[in-house]
Order: sequence, then C-alpha cells, then structure tokens
Amino acid sequence: MLENNYTNNTDNSSSGIVYLVGAGPGDPGLLTLRGLECLQKADLVVHDRLANQQLLAHAPQAEIIDVGKKPDHHPTPQERINAILVEEAQKGKVIVRLKGGDPFVFGRGGEEALSLAKAGIPFEIIPGVTSAISVPAYAGIPVTQRGVACSVAFITGHCAGSKPLDVDWQALSQGVDTLVFLMGVHSLKLIVTSLLKVGRSPETPIALIERGTLPEQKVVTGTLDNILEEAADIEPPAIIIIGKVVSLHPTLEWFKSTLEISLMG
Ligand code: SAH
Repeated sequence: MLENNYTNNTDNSSSGIVYLVGAGPGDPGLLTLRGLECLQKADLVVHDRLANQQLLAHAPQAEIIDVGKKPDHHPTPQERINAILVEEAQKGKVIVRLKGGDPFVFGRGGEEALSLAKAGIPFEIIPGVTSAISVPAYAGIPVTQRGVACSVAFITGHCAGSKPLDVDWQALSQGVDTLVFLMGVHSLKLIVTSLLKVGRSPETPIALIERGTLPEQKVVTGTLDNILEEAADIEPPAIIIIGKVVSLHPTLEWFKSTLEISLMG
C-alpha cells in the first residue's frame, strides 16, 4: 500500500467514497501510482471509452460499469452517470470513476465532483496524464520550448450540443504560441480557416495525432495551408497541435507509429 502524508478522505469507513481517477491518454503505463492504488481497492469501477480497458485488470475484484460511448450506441447521459455515482456510494461502496486523461481537462469531472459535493458524498480527485500534453509528447512535440514557444492553450474543438465554437480567434492567434485542440477533428476546417482569417501564417506548422500513446498512433504533419487534404482520414480521438513546436517532430520523434505522412517544408 502506498503511503501519502496529505489529508484525505481515504479512511472514511462509514460511507462510500468516489475516486475520480485520471486513466491517462491510452498507454496503460501512464496511470499514476495513486490511481493504481485506488483501482486495487475498488468495489466498483465506472469507466469511459477513452480509459484503456487494460487498466481494469488492476481491479479484478470490482464490479464494472461501462458508461462509455461505443459506435452505434448512445453514451450513458451525464445525469445518469452522476446518479449512479451517488446511489452506489450511498450503499457504502469504494468507487473508482475512471476517466480518460485527466478528469478535469474537458472530462466533465468537475460536473461529477459538483454532483458528489451536493449529495454530501466524500470524493477525491486523482489527476491523470492529460492527452493534451502527453499525446504531443509521444509524437516528439514539446508543447513549450525555450525560444520557440512560451505559452500554450488547450481548446475544445467541440461545444455542448450544436452550439458554434466559442473561441476568440484573434486573441488566441496573437496571444498564444502553441494551440492544442481536443475534440477538434470534425472542426478542423473551421479551426484552420478561422486562424488564417485572423492572420496566422499559412506556413504555420500543424500536426494531427490520432490514438496517441497507443501502438496504432498515427501522426500527420503539415502547414495550415495544406493540412486539410492530408488529414482527411484522421479520426477521433485525435489531438490537433498548431505552432512552431510542431517542426521539432521529425527530430524528436521517438515513439514508433504505424503510419506517418509529412508535408512540412
Ligand atoms: N480528459 C481527457 C480529454 C477528454 S476529451 C484528457 O485529459 O486527455 C476527449 C478528447 O481527448 C478526444 O476527442 C481527443 O481530442 C483527446 N484524446 C484523448 N485521448 C487521446 C489519444 N489517445 N490520442 C489522441 N487524442 C486523445
């Protein structure tokens, strides 16, 4: 058992507890030690599609509920997930809510924590390795680099429902060196045309990384000018990273991926 010396709710034995655990981006080795410890003592694991299923092997004793979105299936609605966590914790269970990447980075972990807080259920947040930085890292792209990029922004390429993207393109383009879009594959055209419209150079390097950190990782690089044709067959989940740091990819690439297309000059 791992020891830690901070105050937490772990020893609350009278009621259940929910651990909101970040599962990391895909590579099962990127789970934290604290996340592993929680899985090993869980009575119930409630997991997402993006959380690597291999991690469930750390919890053979646990009941498993899959609330992930599968192709041709509707995901469990967020309200229902919130209700499952509350109802099962009220039965006294130790619950791991296993979420892809980090629970608080575009993961709706904040909503789940709010719902638990409202119901008076003890909970802990176990941060995870977010795809926003680790997927670029596995493609040999540092999100910041001295002398090249001193700022980075994480942006969602998808808004709730059918709302348009709520992005200040001018401010982003002028004020931030590296732009990392999550959930952006279907908005790629909008992202590229919006950045070009506010004056980002057509020569700006851009990469799309599909299923990063996994054996089937696929990287496509190019420039704002040519990426639309070349990235046409990229599918979610994928990260879009834009900025000069992308040009480090050919030199720093270390993780062997199955397919790569490069159109950078
Ligand atoms: N909480 C998660 C993000 C959830 S939003 C995190 O911190 O990583 C889901 C988006 O994450 C996907 O649409 C994709 O943009 C990104 N993503 C997650 N895992 C990924 C992976 N292995 N490769 C590429 N993108 C990934």
